[in-house]
Amino acid sequence: MSGPRAPKGTYDLLPDEAALRDDVVATAARVFGAHGYRRVVTPEFEETGLFERGVGEATDIVRKEMYTFEDKGGRSLTLRPEGTAPICRLYVEHGLHKWPQPVKLWYYCPMFRYERPQAGRYREHYQLGAEAIGSPAPEVDAEVIAMLAQLFAELGIGGLRLAVNSMGDPACRPAYVGRLREYLRGREDELCADCRERLELNPLRTFDCKVESCRAVLDEAPHIDEHLCPECREHFDTVLGLLRRVGLEPELDFRLVRGLDYYTRTTFEFSSDRLGAQSGVGGGGRYDGLVEQVGGPPTPGVGFGSGLERITLAMGAREAPGLGPAAFVVAFTDEVRGDAFVLAQGLRRAGLAVELDLAGRSAKGQLKQAGRSGAAYAVLLGLEELPPETVRVKALAGGGEEDVPAAGVAAWLTARKESE
Ligand SMILES: [Zn+2]
Ligand SMILES: [Zn+2]
Repeated sequence: MSGPRAPKGTYDLLPDEAALRDDVVATAARVFGAHGYRRVVTPEFEETGLFERGVGEATDIVRKEMYTFEDKGGRSLTLRPEGTAPICRLYVEHGLHKWPQPVKLWYYCPMFRYERPQAGRYREHYQLGAEAIGSPAPEVDAEVIAMLAQLFAELGIGGLRLAVNSMGDPACRPAYVGRLREYLRGREDELCADCRERLELNPLRTFDCKVESCRAVLDEAPHIDEHLCPECREHFDTVLGLLRRVGLEPELDFRLVRGLDYYTRTTFEFSSDRLGAQSGVGGGGRYDGLVEQVGGPPTPGVGFGSGLERITLAMGAREAPGLGPAAFVVAFTDEVRGDAFVLAQGLRRAGLAVELDLAGRSAKGQLKQAGRSGAAYAVLLGLEELPPETVRVKALAGGGEEDVPAAGVAAWLTARKESE
């Protein structure tokens, strides 16, 4: 096949698909707004160093997946691969620590990663996310989780499972990491080459491994749950208790860890059985060291990200919410085409959605087009039997028609629309 094509790993949204997408984002805006989160917008690219510090130089994202380029001024820039580091940068740069804490923000934007394209994974993908920065309170963890659960419920995503874990903090995690390393060394010959390397550098990252033999070893690994210090234990129990009290059923999953030092305590992930093997639909956690990592003062934070493509897949097939226009203006003769145009513009200025023929169709063709457009009414101009300055408004579903002064059509249609 020849002709232009969208780059590998990217996609277009046609109008029906974009309308569904807009619906999801509007629902998110409403749900997040009800929780006191306000939307922010950050640039599509940032200085590369932000992601090296804020994602971690040792991660696959930074090592293999970033779209990094030098601009004409010799600066190293990177297309945003994830949403949290830019929000932390924004928080520091604009002095948001002076606002009442925590500062609750959300975003909706594309992320760029050079990944191998597969079902539901793209090189440009869109993400919804929220971050609450400035409070270590367990209520904040519970709030972001409950908020994402409410979004998924309102979008009608079924078959949901909520996995949670606490990965401790600098007081208790090092001892656990030591225990884990000791355990993994004892079964080193069953691990893949990557995991043998990880077990020395950062044993927590072995939990990300997809290799079957590694997963079997990790199934029997010591659980961090049993190594939490009293403060982390209490924090985690409070989060779990609050989630249960609002009707959620968190399942403990000791595999849910993030192998970077600035992640602390709560981690969580929602998955849907409608998505098959790659079942994650959104997740996140607490990152009490991240703001400091990107150059700010020590500041706790917690948040999540959720891919729009995954959400859409989990929602299943939907009818596009497309509504037809209120009216379709039909010019019965060529002489009144100009009048039809002027009338349509007047109706649009009055706040009505209006279509008219733009392809030189006959009167019959225009009526057919009016029916196809889904319009509730056709406004007919140029009928011989009508007095001057009068139009005929015809209900397209179910017959009925009425002759109306041209100047009164907007009011007539608006009254009908409001009584619907
Ligand atoms: Zn492995
Ligand atoms: Zn602890």
